[in-house]
Amino acid sequence: MFEQSIATLAKKLRNKDISSVELTRLFLARIAKLDPQLNSFITVSEERALEQAATADALLQSGKGTSLTGIPVAHKDLFCTEGTLTTCGSKMLHNFVPPYESTVTSRIQQAGAVMLGKTNMDEFAMGSSNENSFYGAVKNPWNLNMVPGGSSGGSAAAVAAGLAVAATGTDTGGSIRQPASFCGITGLKPTYGRVSRFGMIAYASSLDQGGPMAKSAEDCAHLMQAMAGFDEKDSTSADKPADDYLANLNAPLTGLKIGLPKEYFGDGLDPKVADVIMSAVKEFEKLGATVKEISLPNLQLSIPSYYVIAPSEASSNLSRFDGVRFGHRCDNPKDLLDMYMRSRAEGFGTEVQKRIMIGTYALSEGYYDAYYLKAQKIRRLIKEDFVKALEEVDVIMGPVAPTTAFGLGSKTNDPVAMYLEDIYTLSVNLAGIPAMSVPAGFADGMPVGLQIMGNYFAEAKLLNVAHQYQQHTDWHLQTPNMAKGA
Ligand code: GLN
Repeated sequence: MFEQSIATLAKKLRNKDISSVELTRLFLARIAKLDPQLNSFITVSEERALEQAATADALLQSGKGTSLTGIPVAHKDLFCTEGTLTTCGSKMLHNFVPPYESTVTSRIQQAGAVMLGKTNMDEFAMGSSNENSFYGAVKNPWNLNMVPGGSSGGSAAAVAAGLAVAATGTDTGGSIRQPASFCGITGLKPTYGRVSRFGMIAYASSLDQGGPMAKSAEDCAHLMQAMAGFDEKDSTSADKPADDYLANLNAPLTGLKIGLPKEYFGDGLDPKVADVIMSAVKEFEKLGATVKEISLPNLQLSIPSYYVIAPSEASSNLSRFDGVRFGHRCDNPKDLLDMYMRSRAEGFGTEVQKRIMIGTYALSEGYYDAYYLKAQKIRRLIKEDFVKALEEVDVIMGPVAPTTAFGLGSKTNDPVAMYLEDIYTLSVNLAGIPAMSVPAGFADGMPVGLQIMGNYFAEAKLLNVAHQYQQHTDWHLQTPNMAKGA
């Protein structure tokens, strides 16, 4: 049951082969049994889940509801959920119970989905391995000694291990795609502005974007039906109707023009990962696509540009955590300054503190032009590279990450090696375009994700391309051993 698609489960729920309460109990039991090995959940909201499941069953009984009604899902712990602890993976918010609901979780709830709980993540979404969580590292279900990727590592591990049918994630520089790739699931980072950021705890506001993580592109499409669309509560939300993401999943790929950026296949890419990507590209050729080499010449600059812009925005966003209004407050402050300083020093972990310092430095008078402004100029060049490339091709393909999942602890002392993991994902966020990670094979027993990038608001196209591939391959249907037979 835990391996089935949203469409199949929706049918079973509608035919009363199973009730949502039964399905929810089944997933709660799997979480209780398997999550001690993975640590993918920070909070399991059993009571809320069973209440929502009962409501869903009543709705289904009367013949109403959507394809998500009664389906158990999980949310990354940076979406504010009214009445349910929302930590953002940080000690700073260890006691934060939001008085309101984020737009994403509220829309998914309105569609009738059941929330099983909140998933583990790198603190404030800063990381590429999920080792920066105050709640401990998450393990990769394919090999418990490996990282699941970050920062949405809890969501990715939970879906891969069948602890939730689907999950939400957020992607500021790769945090949906890279963990999806490392855990062998499908993830979509939508166009900036397509999915509301209201109620999403901000990391870098000009880059953050929520999106679906699920087994298949089709499941992601079901989630997008609920998540996407204009939201007046988010001033950067795109005032443009959302597409029907299910309508064109079956469109044939004949004549699809695929661009392969030569910079994505250069030094640093594990040859075994490259092989997997190239066999996926061949599969697309069999489906009628044509392939051409393109160039995204400023790829190398995405790391320095992103690692100035993201910390700069973070330093500003995170100034609200001052121990006064919500979150952690130190004991017995001497005075106001002592309270600010100790609350922040105690509440934020090392990586977060490092980025606040980098960001504050980059934005400070005298350095602003040299760092922040320069980074924004590079961002423009990166965007122009994509715009130009996408005039010639329909989609761009390449690896999501240079390697498969790496060992826990293997890069924690080497921030540069860790930041290099993001080389193929960051530029998509800097440009604001949509991109997916799609399971495409294995290297040394670990999953490899194919990245598919598209033009602004081309989510439906990306889902169509990924879905067609998944109709002809079964990489997305593989289950890690630890998840079987439970
Ligand atoms: N790894 C990147 C970072 O640490 C991206 C994280 C993300 O997308 N949230 O900033």
